[in-house]
Amino acid sequence: MRLKELQTWTKNAWKKSDKKVTEKDELLFLFEEIGEVAEAIRIENGFKKNKTKPDLEDEFGNVLLSLITLANRYNVDLEKGMKKTIKRIEERYIKGQRRTK
Ligand SMILES: [Mg+2]
Repeated sequence: MRLKELQTWTKNAWKKSDKKVTEKDELLFLFEEIGEVAEAIRIENGFKKNKTKPDLEDEFGNVLLSLITLANRYNVDLEKGMKKTIKRIEERYIKGQRRTK
């Protein structure tokens, strides 16, 4: 699935939901999910041995959903944003990709 498709799916899914959340809630959900990824990685690395093995794919999926939800609120096109980021990273860090203006 492309980012555009994920953004459309997310927008439509939340329209069908009874769950009403504010922008603040969405931001807090994103940070909460990022924290869960951090915890999952710590468990993967041998910390918190009493916790069950996390599903990293699911945890990263939760972060992506929260990020997309927030981006949709601001009508941010994530593909366009990612293209800008890729261009900047290539120019700064990828050998042979440096462009001259
Ligand atoms: Mg999670």
